[in-house]
Amino acid sequence: MVEPTIFDLSSPGRGGGLVPDLDVPGEPLDNLIPGSCRRKEAAALPEVSEQALVRHFVRLSTLNHHVDKGFYPLGSCTMKYNPKVNEVAASLPGFASLHPLVPESLCQGSLGLIYDLERILCEITGMKAVCMQPAAGAQGELLGLLVIRAFHESRGRQPTKVLVPDTAHGTNPASVVLSGFEPQTVPSTSGGEIDLDGLAKVLDEDVAALMVTNPNTLGLFERQIVRVAEMVHDVGGKVYMDGANMNALMGIVRPGDLGMDAMHLNLHKTFSTPHGGGGPGSGPVAVVEDLEPFLPVPRIVKGDDGYRLEEDFPKSVGRLHTWYGNFLVMVKAYAYLRGMGPEGVREVSAAAILNANYAMRALEGTYDLPYQRVCQHEFVLSARRQKAKGVRALDIAKRLLDYGFHAPTMYFPLVVEEALMIEPTETESKETLDAFIETMEKIAEEVDTEPDAVKAAPTRTPIRRVDEAKAARQLDLRWKKT
Ligand SMILES: *Cc1c(COP(=O)(O)O)cnc(C)c1O
Repeated sequence: MVEPTIFDLSSPGRGGGLVPDLDVPGEPLDNLIPGSCRRKEAAALPEVSEQALVRHFVRLSTLNHHVDKGFYPLGSCTMKYNPKVNEVAASLPGFASLHPLVPESLCQGSLGLIYDLERILCEITGMKAVCMQPAAGAQGELLGLLVIRAFHESRGRQPTKVLVPDTAHGTNPASVVLSGFEPQTVPSTSGGEIDLDGLAKVLDEDVAALMVTNPNTLGLFERQIVRVAEMVHDVGGKVYMDGANMNALMGIVRPGDLGMDAMHLNLHKTFSTPHGGGGPGSGPVAVVEDLEPFLPVPRIVKGDDGYRLEEDFPKSVGRLHTWYGNFLVMVKAYAYLRGMGPEGVREVSAAAILNANYAMRALEGTYDLPYQRVCQHEFVLSARRQKAKGVRALDIAKRLLDYGFHAPTMYFPLVVEEALMIEPTETESKETLDAFIETMEKIAEEVDTEPDAVKAAPTRTPIRRVDEAKAARQLDLRWKKT
């Protein structure tokens, strides 16, 4: 008799005779799942080969445009490449399997990571304290305003207004309303910056805060920002900075040094978390010293015996998020920041600014450039010249899809007619930028030579131009009618 080997061709069955019969007698199924809960027939699962399955998902993954597939110049969104190594860090079992109710003594490393990340973000923003709880930039804005309200109330004041420049991000006025304040618009000058005279006119004791996006949504740095902050402080107001555009400032300018009192950061833009599908985000809020007592609880404190979550802050606005926010997004930001280091983040911002200015200067003759200034991380073109020929910014954006690029942000900010807001980010190469510039030039040519092709675009994408008004009015969320 021959010794059984692990691969005996004469044995029956796939396992070469050594794999035990799968039909192992064990606990009767009835004891595990009651009969009333079990299906009567086998589930109608598709019977497909592994190869068919892999091809199906690979194909699906390439139907949509994404950063791993191509250039994504969507202004204000900072759609940069996120190094995969930071995903690896976030998927380490010690982080990914952490139970939210684990005792503090068993998650010291994770608490320490959040604590250290808060310190790094304080350094980058020039602020005193950071709350990591907000799950998005807009939630950070809400928190910032709630903290500012609590600050005023603690001094027996109840101002009702929050000033918002007309170059602010759209979430800003929305957050003002959500937090119970009344938004009031501050006009900008023809240079695209806050109009100091216009600001002076609306400043009074009833102003709780000014909410300023800086760099603003025109991609311009507010050069009068220190003066603006002084003016707001003079009437007792606070300045909240929307810091979602921090990709232009890191390591170069600290908002705390400019007189900003509170701000949020978007970890899912600037600090290495992919976004744009509604996945988990993180919008930490940084504040100066006199706003710190009002930050949400729990706060992570470092004591002699390690880190702990502390609830005892009597002036706190309370809890903003279950547990402590989206922790794995913080792990990615931490890994990214430790990997880049202080010099690295400065280089990120410098390269983001350089890339934006390179593309802006290359395109300023082909499209209108309403603000002739060095831009920050993004710039805004106007397609009004093309509109005069019957082709709109929307058509140009759609045509870009045909050439394998994601569209820029369109029709925003509102102060620019037929706006195309372009943010290249620091992670794109000169080759990619040149290809994009050439394509934008080619489309401008098509506007003259074959405008109908531009107006019919996209024609090479899996889904052609959709009727957006119909899609919004007759919402149909089902894939197949049954
Ligand atoms: C993206 C963005 C926001 C909002 O952030 P969310 O995380 O999408 O809520 C706010 N302000 C600016 C300038 C932004 O670019």
